[in-house]
Parts: sequence; C-alpha cells; structure tokens
Amino acid sequence: VPMDAKKPSWLRVNVPGGERYQKVRETLKGLQLHTVCAEAHCPNVAECWGGGTATVMLMGDVCTRGCRFCNVKTAAHPPALDPDEPRHLAEAIAELALDYIVVTSVDRDDLPDGGAAHFADAIRRLKEIPGLLVEVLTPDFRGDPEAVRTVGRAAPDVFANNLETVRRLTPAVRDAKATYDQTLGVLAQLKREFPQVVTKSSIMVGLGEQEAEVVEAMRDLRAHGVEILTLGQYLRPSAWHLPVVEYVSPERFAAYRDQGLALGFRYVASGPLVRSSYRAAELFLRGEIE
Ligand code: SF4
Ligand code: SF4
Repeated sequence: VPMDAKKPSWLRVNVPGGERYQKVRETLKGLQLHTVCAEAHCPNVAECWGGGTATVMLMGDVCTRGCRFCNVKTAAHPPALDPDEPRHLAEAIAELALDYIVVTSVDRDDLPDGGAAHFADAIRRLKEIPGLLVEVLTPDFRGDPEAVRTVGRAAPDVFANNLETVRRLTPAVRDAKATYDQTLGVLAQLKREFPQVVTKSSIMVGLGEQEAEVVEAMRDLRAHGVEILTLGQYLRPSAWHLPVVEYVSPERFAAYRDQGLALGFRYVASGPLVRSSYRAAELFLRGEIE
C-alpha cells in the first residue's frame, strides 16, 4: 500500500541500545505482556525503555470506536474483560523494574462503566510497586462523571485524555462518540475533584489544522486545568486512514512548545516523533513534581 509521499529526514531515527533498554527487552521476552511500544513499532522505544518508561494496553485490543487515525481493530462487542488482567499486568510490570508505566486502552462503550473499575483495579495494584509512577490514558467514558471519579479515586500520578486534534477537525478525525468538549470536560472534572493528580493531553498535527487553531486548542486545555501537553506529527497507519496533509517542521514544533509554555503548561513535549507517552517521566525526573 503506498504511503504518503516522501517523509522528511527529521522523521528518521537512530536506534541505540543502552544497557537498560536491553534488560527491558530481555525481561519482556519471558513475560506475557504486550507493550504498545513494541507492537506499534514506536520509534522512541530505545529512548523510552532505556529511560525506564513503557506503555501497555488494558481491556484487550478490540475497540468499540473507529477513529480515522488509529490502527486498532473495531467491533461493537469485543471479548469480555479478563478479571485477572490487572493483577497479571502488575506482576509483569513489577518484574520489569520500570520507573514509569503508562497504561492505556481501547474504548469499551459496550461496558456499563466503560471499564473504569477495571482501570482503577490496575492503578491500585501498580501503585503498590515501590517507586513506580503510574500514568493512565483512559477512554472518555462518554463523559460519565461517575466513571471518571472511579479512576480518579484510584489515584494515578498522571491522568491523560487526548484532545487528538483541533476543534474544527475533530468530527473528521475522531469517532463520532468522542467530542472536543467531552474530552475537555473529562479533564476538567478530574482536576477539580482530584487536584493532586497531574492532567495531560496530546494533539497530533499535520492533519490540516492552522497554527491559530492549535493555539486555540492549547488555550482550551489550559482553561480546563490541563498541565502537561504533548504535540507530535500525525503519521498515516495505512491507506484507509486519513492522509497526512503536512509534515510540520521541527521549527514549528519548537514554536508550539514555546507558545504552550507561555500559556502556562508545566511541561510541553513537542516534536515530529513525540507520542502521547514520550518522555512521560521527564517532569518527575527533573524533580518538578513530587
Ligand atoms: Fe512506548 Fe510511548 Fe515511548 Fe513509544 S513513546 S516507546 S509507545 S512509551
Ligand atoms: Fe483508537 Fe482510541 Fe479511537 Fe479506539 S477510541 S479507535 S483505541 S483512538
């Protein structure tokens, strides 16, 4: 399948392999654990694993939604949840001796609570691992405040919900069940009710948005209390998915980072290869959040 024409040089990566990266890789081989890092062939894997960070999926690999940028399989009724999954996940993560784990998932609109209790179970078990910081990138639970509260009560260190794109492009990019204001509302509720949890969101660029629209999205996130922002280049997973409209230059990413910091985000990761979980631990390692 032909992909978008010529990727610019700044999207190529070298893959070094430090000692810690090798250890995570070796340990993973013996575990029943699927990382997003490996399965999505993420270009940052050496850097992230080498820095003690990884991303895993909860609640299976079949989503009830079908966003136009996402490569996950879709079905109205995915297989039932495995009630032992949170415990197995925590056992595997304990063996990896990571500093920072990002737990994300498909959306499970088929479940009455959207999987919130399952997420909360996983967070509580992971928080028992000494020294491990836990970030969750959860579904929006269709904006259900009780589901959001269930996750907040489990006290993750970081709670993320991704805006994904600017307001105007949201209907074309995301599943119809995911709206711009719903995402902002979930982030605002979490921050209001659990102020000690750091909130975070991500935006993909290169989908045809204007610079002013990106700045507007940043303002909207700040107005809803969001503290960490990541911005990265959208890359098309297959010909079925939305085309890349533009490869945003590293200079523009740097400008977005400066604008984000000026708007008051505590941390902004902005660059062509930045993913939602990229350098997730950095703010903590710099000692800015205890
Ligand atoms: Fe894994 Fe996220 Fe890092 Fe990619 S950016 S390697 S998915 S933790
Ligand atoms: Fe992919 Fe998430 Fe959209 Fe499901 S809800 S299709 S996992 S981006």
